[in-house]
Amino acid sequence: MNGTVRGTAAPRAGDDRREANAATVLRAVLDHGPVARSGVSRLTGLSPAAVSRQTVDLLRLELLVERPELAVAAPGVRGRPQLPLDIDDRRLAVAGLHVGLPYSTFALLDLRGRVLVRQELPNGGRRGRAVLKALLERVPRLLAAAATGPAAGRRVLGLGAVTGGAVDAERGMTVRHEPLGWREVPLRELLERATGLPVRVDNHARALAAAEVLFGDPAARRSMVQLFVGHVVDASISVAGTVHQGPPSVTGDGGHLPVPGSSARCHCGRRGCLSVAASDDTLFAAAVEQGVIARPDRQLLLAAVRAGDPRADALVRERAVVVGGALALLADVVNPDLLVLTETFSVADPAYLAAVREEFALRSHLHRDASLLVAQRFGADALAVAACAPVLGELYARPLPGF
Ligand SMILES: [Zn+2]
Repeated sequence: MNGTVRGTAAPRAGDDRREANAATVLRAVLDHGPVARSGVSRLTGLSPAAVSRQTVDLLRLELLVERPELAVAAPGVRGRPQLPLDIDDRRLAVAGLHVGLPYSTFALLDLRGRVLVRQELPNGGRRGRAVLKALLERVPRLLAAAATGPAAGRRVLGLGAVTGGAVDAERGMTVRHEPLGWREVPLRELLERATGLPVRVDNHARALAAAEVLFGDPAARRSMVQLFVGHVVDASISVAGTVHQGPPSVTGDGGHLPVPGSSARCHCGRRGCLSVAASDDTLFAAAVEQGVIARPDRQLLLAAVRAGDPRADALVRERAVVVGGALALLADVVNPDLLVLTETFSVADPAYLAAVREEFALRSHLHRDASLLVAQRFGADALAVAACAPVLGELYARPLPGF
């Protein structure tokens, strides 16, 4: 497997339109394929000649493929039927690394965002440079192993790397990640050196939003707030298909929204912050304290909930109420078209999403119902898809390399 370097240099001015048209064609085929060139022209407003020109490039780059087996001659139209175009999901792959607290996730995806490989890498309680060192050793081996696994024969275009905290995507740095103990970590440079692949780095909440914009509900491309609730709690916003970056490299921090009635102490020094009231740490600790689970572990609590343990159910519903209230605040301030929640239990079980929605509808001033509120669609693959989103986002925005 060898990487294709997608130049980060700015394209020459005259090529801007060509690049934008290619992105438009690729995106239309992702959304509507398999679709004939005439269909792409209709969908995008590009001239048939422009669509044909871009298609030549995109076929050559193995991003698109023709599907002759799906060709049908239009009634009354003479000549050869047009060959439908589709995303080529068999020859290329994108790699990703999500660096989390209890574990990191390595993944390989096809161009439709479907997971080919997903592997969780426990951090073993390590923090700081030790986490980084272990990953820099592990990721090249996982890439090599993938060459003989489900991604065999595919060319890997690049590696996405996402972490929580403040991430400067432009400089490829994790600027600050308190729980992990990282400061000014040049993640892009280190991973490029270790893997030989081009690397793109981003914050994980922004990457989750980017994944939703690429492969999710069409409303996500109008405007969206995405709330992540896990060991950390953070939010991201996208408008018109672009995920907000924010100065300086911080998306915004929903973690310190006040939660009425909560007195838990936050690391910021105050009490009743969302990042503590709703975090996995708080939920799992309460479950351990009540004897529901033996140790703070997501899978154990999921199992207890699935087994119908009423104490587990009550704890998860309690958090659903906290999360529903926070989402109502966010929705009232931003008024997005779509509100996406990434939280273990509401993703796994519609009953808990219903509990979040019920509280949301009760609290929101703008929304009498919770129809705009959905659970993140990638399920257990969410972090894998988010990890690859920086590379896939770049690919769909600027598909033509080599200017
Ligand atoms: Zn706080």
